[in-house]
Amino acid sequence: MTQENPRKRVAVVGGGITGLTAAYRLSAGGHDVTLFEQAGRLGGSIRTERSGGWLIEGGPNSLLEGEAGLSTLIDQLGLAAEVQAGGAAAKNRFIVRGGRLQALPLSPPALLTTKLFSAGMKFRLFAEILQKARKREGDVSLEQLILDHFGREAVDYGLNPFVGGVYAGDPGLLSARHSFPKLWEIEQTKGSIIRGQMAAAKERKAAGKPRPRIISFRTGLGALPDALAARLPAGSIRLGARVEHLERTQEWTVTWKNADGGLERGNFDEVVLAAPAGALGALRFGAGGDCSLAVLREVVLPPVASLFLGFKREQVRHPLDGFGALIPALERRKELGILFSSSLFEGRAPAGHVALTVMAGGMRQPELARLGQAELWEAVRGDLRDLLGVEGEPVFSRFNAWPSAIPQYNLGYEKFLGAIAACENANPGLHIGGNVRDGIAVPSCISAGFRLAAAVSGGPSV
Ligand SMILES: Cc1cc2nc3c(=O)[nH]c(=O)nc-3n(C[C@H](O)[C@H](O)[C@H](O)COP(=O)(O)OP(=O)(O)OC[C@H]3O[C@@H](n4cnc5c(N)ncnc54)[C@H](O)[C@@H]3O)c2cc1C
Repeated sequence: MTQENPRKRVAVVGGGITGLTAAYRLSAGGHDVTLFEQAGRLGGSIRTERSGGWLIEGGPNSLLEGEAGLSTLIDQLGLAAEVQAGGAAAKNRFIVRGGRLQALPLSPPALLTTKLFSAGMKFRLFAEILQKARKREGDVSLEQLILDHFGREAVDYGLNPFVGGVYAGDPGLLSARHSFPKLWEIEQTKGSIIRGQMAAAKERKAAGKPRPRIISFRTGLGALPDALAARLPAGSIRLGARVEHLERTQEWTVTWKNADGGLERGNFDEVVLAAPAGALGALRFGAGGDCSLAVLREVVLPPVASLFLGFKREQVRHPLDGFGALIPALERRKELGILFSSSLFEGRAPAGHVALTVMAGGMRQPELARLGQAELWEAVRGDLRDLLGVEGEPVFSRFNAWPSAIPQYNLGYEKFLGAIAACENANPGLHIGGNVRDGIAVPSCISAGFRLAAAVSGGPSV
């Protein structure tokens, strides 16, 4: 520690991947960190379980490489040898159309022959390359953006299932600027989305960077929170500690409710908030630390249910030669998507068995995410039979419900980003980040953790 960069006492609120990354970096930088997590476990949305020969991901299932924070973290934690790349078949993705799984075309020749899109749609895809850069007056929905470039069919059988799989969201409500900022930027600078994607791939090649892979770890995504927690000093993690009140005088006084319901207080130089939107909206600020994040309670977070199902290989007719299947709303099925978990990564099911993960609910059918495990299985079993030839009862299953799963960066989201920035500006020493602000994917949250730590230390982010 130096005079310009003194050792600070830092409270980190939220033990998901954002808070854990920030706490790890701060601690590695010599700061005195206390991590508060209201639940009895760390990891937040990352929830990995092992049982018998099954490896279950109850929340996120895979990570897309490409962000510097993710690779830096993997290196720093010594996890490189544990990384598992998606299996050979995982590059195949299916979209359901007309009640059948159709492979997503991955090359121009495959596009010409696919049954997923009509001839008119294929023509529009090729013609899109001629679009000129477009300056819009303001933000538009993701649906409008794709409609303008590719037409209705691309929205119904491309965007809709894709957005259901990533955001569990409604493309008519999601903001193009906030939910897919890279697409928004490509439109402004290059015009054509296809040309923009091709240019990005060319740049990547020229820079000698490999194509980003889909990855996990041999022991599942839980490897990340486990390794981060193991790097924090003994006594720095408080589980079952729900932070309720923040007050700024000469220093920050943080009040939390402990696992027995009692209130405790502690003093800190700086505070990092890495909790979800609803929790930030419920925080109370006092004295000089006045600011309101109450507006964040209006952020929409639809519920999602994840149902992990194990079958004997012979119970499933489909070869499961892919990442999984995404299901457009127009197909009127009960699932947002079905992951072929045991094809995606090795070691997810015992020999002679396969594992599927069904995601249901989201903005499309929130009521399905509120069903119990048995009811959800009854609701989806007919679709699994029709689409994948699944017969009989699962030999293993696990159910995870997420009542407020993923924040929707809907049109008007700048209202929330503005409130977060205003709160930080009014409170020196307060830093806010995570999926409410920095992007919803786990790698984006890791980058957020690096950013938050750097904001406390005053150093570079990654
Ligand atoms: C079902 C599902 C599937 C997903 N699939 C993928 C995927 O495949 N790939 C991908 O990249 N991303 C995926 N995501 C998104 C990604 O998992 C999350 O956006 C990311 O993990 C969020 O991390 P976080 O640390 O910002 O927040 P969280 O993980 O929500 O952690 C915040 C923590 O703060 C705690 N907390 C809240 N209030 C308080 C308080 N007052 N005091 C103390 N602690 C508090 C919470 O208990 C929680 O542990 C998925 C998400 C879900 C729900």
